[in-house]
Amino acid sequence: MDYALLADKALNNQPLTHEECLRVLQTPEDSILMLLQSAYAVRKTFFGKKVYLHMLLNVKSGLCSEDCSYCSQSKVSQAKIEKYPLLDETDILKGAYAAREARARRYCIVSSGRAPSQNELDTLRSAVKKIKKEIGIDVCTSLGFLTEEKALALKEAGVNRYNHNLNASEHFYPNICSSHTFQDRVQTVRYAQAAGLELCCGALFGMGESDEDIIDTLMALKDIEPDSLPINFFNPIAGTPLEHVNYLTPLKCLNILCLARFLNPRTEIRPAGGREYHIRSLQPFVLFPANSLFVAGYLTTTGQTPEDAWKMIEDMGFEVEEERSMEVSTRAVEV
Ligand code: SF4
Repeated sequence: MDYALLADKALNNQPLTHEECLRVLQTPEDSILMLLQSAYAVRKTFFGKKVYLHMLLNVKSGLCSEDCSYCSQSKVSQAKIEKYPLLDETDILKGAYAAREARARRYCIVSSGRAPSQNELDTLRSAVKKIKKEIGIDVCTSLGFLTEEKALALKEAGVNRYNHNLNASEHFYPNICSSHTFQDRVQTVRYAQAAGLELCCGALFGMGESDEDIIDTLMALKDIEPDSLPINFFNPIAGTPLEHVNYLTPLKCLNILCLARFLNPRTEIRPAGGREYHIRSLQPFVLFPANSLFVAGYLTTTGQTPEDAWKMIEDMGFEVEEERSMEVSTRAVEV
């Protein structure tokens, strides 16, 4: 496999062939350094050595009406997680201060549930207005399905970005959820984009999907053109229907991240949930394809502390980018 050719194609905006995608996903162990080097050539062109940190707060936990089989907060989950209704404004604001302390460039406000109620939306809008006034940090919200009106209301309140993941390919989607469809998810993505919100839209791998499904998912994401592409690696939580599905390896996760970079050269790519669990001692290598990380944990699981993330980034010769000084997704940087 000519890995340098893949970087050239990505840099020239040429999509990889299906066969090339498959070979990236099946990169043998002794070729991983060549693969990472090529992915890094692409990452370096558009993002230099900058790493963007994100910190999230699960502002409403559990109690969801949906049956996503991977999720500890779903109605079919027996997982022992904390369950609570929407936090009040003060606590949501405190999370934004904590994100700033963690040197995060973006504060991600995430709530469980199919869609935000009008009351919840009002509370969140008010909290976001205060965050923007007092702290100024970028805000992403992830609140489930939107209508056109709700998307516009979030934009008006100062929300910068909306997260809504595709999670899986259209073909695989019925295996993980029956209470909504892949197309339902695409619709919300379109509402967010139409409202002028930046889009964070990604995937969750390791739920039993094939390599073909991984490619289809990444191709669907490429078509959607998100500003930010989080890649979650399925962390099997006891009490969920998929609790025994656990086969990802650190190298497979790196292969997936590299493929995501070749297909989305200018997009912010972030290994998200399951990074610590699945990539383990190889985590520093994610910085070659990816340019963004979560610190301090996920929805119902803990993660790398901000201090350990800073150290890892520094040790690898990369640097934390705290300020939003330019629109990175559309221009190359000098390195
Ligand atoms: S992923 Fe979201 S919509 Fe699905 S069960 Fe979990 S909280 Fe509900």
